[in-house]
Amino acid sequence: MSTEEKSEVSQLKEKLFANTKNGAKRISEEDLTKADEFCEEYKNFLNSAKIEREAVRYAVTLAEDNGFTKFDFNKNYNPGDKVYVVNRNKAVILAVIGRKRSTEGVKLAIAHIDSPRLDLKPNPLYEANDLAFFKTHYYGGIKKYQWTTIPLSLHGVVMLKNGESVNVSFGEDDNDPCLCVTDLLPHLANQQMSNPMVKAFTGEDLNIIIGSRPFKDDKESELVKLNILKILNNKYGIIEEDFLSADLEAVPAFKARDVGFDASMIGAYGHDDRVCAYPALMAAIDCGVPENTVITVLTDKEEIGSDGNTGMQSKYLSYFIEDLAQQDGVEARHIITKSKCLSADVNAAFDPNYASVYEARNSSFINNGVVITKYTGHGGKYDTSDATAEFMSEIRTMLDDANIIWQSGELGKVDAGGGGTIAKYIANLNIDVVDLGVPVLSMHAPFEIVSKIDVYMAYKAFLKFFS
Ligand code: MN
Ligand code: MN
Repeated sequence: MSTEEKSEVSQLKEKLFANTKNGAKRISEEDLTKADEFCEEYKNFLNSAKIEREAVRYAVTLAEDNGFTKFDFNKNYNPGDKVYVVNRNKAVILAVIGRKRSTEGVKLAIAHIDSPRLDLKPNPLYEANDLAFFKTHYYGGIKKYQWTTIPLSLHGVVMLKNGESVNVSFGEDDNDPCLCVTDLLPHLANQQMSNPMVKAFTGEDLNIIIGSRPFKDDKESELVKLNILKILNNKYGIIEEDFLSADLEAVPAFKARDVGFDASMIGAYGHDDRVCAYPALMAAIDCGVPENTVITVLTDKEEIGSDGNTGMQSKYLSYFIEDLAQQDGVEARHIITKSKCLSADVNAAFDPNYASVYEARNSSFINNGVVITKYTGHGGKYDTSDATAEFMSEIRTMLDDANIIWQSGELGKVDAGGGGTIAKYIANLNIDVVDLGVPVLSMHAPFEIVSKIDVYMAYKAFLKFFS
């Protein structure tokens, strides 16, 4: 074979084959620097917004600093006006009014800000053998053993009987104590370790140890519990019954940090889905005066099926669009039908250590950029929205035009398992939607891993979609 023929082959390959070259080899030096810078701010967000309420507070503060105001449906808005709506302190809509009439449709990026965790039960506090514990009910899809013997912090809100709300963030400061779920020593774990993994730990085993020193009194019982309540009462003003009117969530206490000798990745709790929420938030902040009205939604309850009034099956987004419609004197359905949405959620990055569950030709890879997922669901494409060829075409052209490194991905092998996103609920509104987000290693583990390049490409993608 001559050199000339070879070059014809390579030319043909370049023309006809999909580009699968590693994104880290393709990215410009300028974008690589920007990616590293963007991720420093992303790490701050991860550390200051571990739960949905904190993410909402972070988003609102940042939005207000950048000219967003609380939406008032009686007010008339002009192109470039920036507004937000908070839903029950657990979800937020941020919108920038566009130049075009709203009947041209809006552009949506929707990410979720809830992550798997251990929620306290409504009556959590008890004492056993002179140790105090919290009972928990895990939230979302977890491998239970991963949540034992790691430092945990406690976040959320307690509503006192008098209506006062007390914010809790305990165990984050390096000087704070932390909390923990214990595990059995291997010496006595013969029975436990002979169980299949799903049976080695039950939900009722996930009890958090919270104290061991009794209140000094020889006559009474439950003195460790009493001592803990006394401490909680001093610190937060709460009594035992207040746990009933509380949203308290135990999450990993560790901070986000770089992973790898090359610091190319970030390890943290809750990348799924704050790794899309942060870029989608920043795209709304940075989009200027867009053509179409743009809307970033940071929603709640995705990890448990998007049910409830703060999840994407609720009408809160539709109601907001109805308010926009009313301003323009048009019907909401005419806006909605012409709208387009990026369901900003993560996909499973190919993991060579568990290669057998992935189908490599259709998997997303660390460093290969933002991942488009045409459909999620499970066996036989159940429970998903399958984006149309037309919308897929629009999105890939947009990404190529903006020099964004991207890849496509399916969630593992056919019939290996499955999962879903909010895409199908948006599709049910008659909106064009596709999943676009960041590949994650060890998804749903207390410490998940993403690539800095991919995080930045997600931001570029949402920004391009908006502008
Ligand atoms: Mn997710
Ligand atoms: Mn998830």
